[in-house]
Amino acid sequence: MTEKVTVEPSPSWRDVDCDHLASIQTEVTPSADGCEECLQMGASWVHLRICMECGHVGCCDVSVNKHATKHYHATGHPVMRSYQPGESWLWCYVDSVFID
Ligand SMILES: [Zn+2]
Ligand SMILES: [Zn+2]
Ligand SMILES: [Zn+2]
Repeated sequence: MTEKVTVEPSPSWRDVDCDHLASIQTEVTPSADGCEECLQMGASWVHLRICMECGHVGCCDVSVNKHATKHYHATGHPVMRSYQPGESWLWCYVDSVFID
């Protein structure tokens, strides 16, 4: 069983210029243990990101395949979270805002 990823809504989100935070899931189940597409392709990645709309796990923009960003373009799911151990920051693709 893959452990669920949770996000704790913060009062400081009100000061962030992003309307999408209000509607993200606070709990998603990761779609895979690594980047879903890279695992299928046999490719490797640098860092992992998880979609806070559907739990899709994809690789970051430093990775060759940039599957997290491709997931946003394919689905329109706006907010992703870091899926690295110890990291919980969020990023909204639409507003280009980083939420720590
Ligand atoms: Zn936003
Ligand atoms: Zn990937
Ligand atoms: Zn998604």
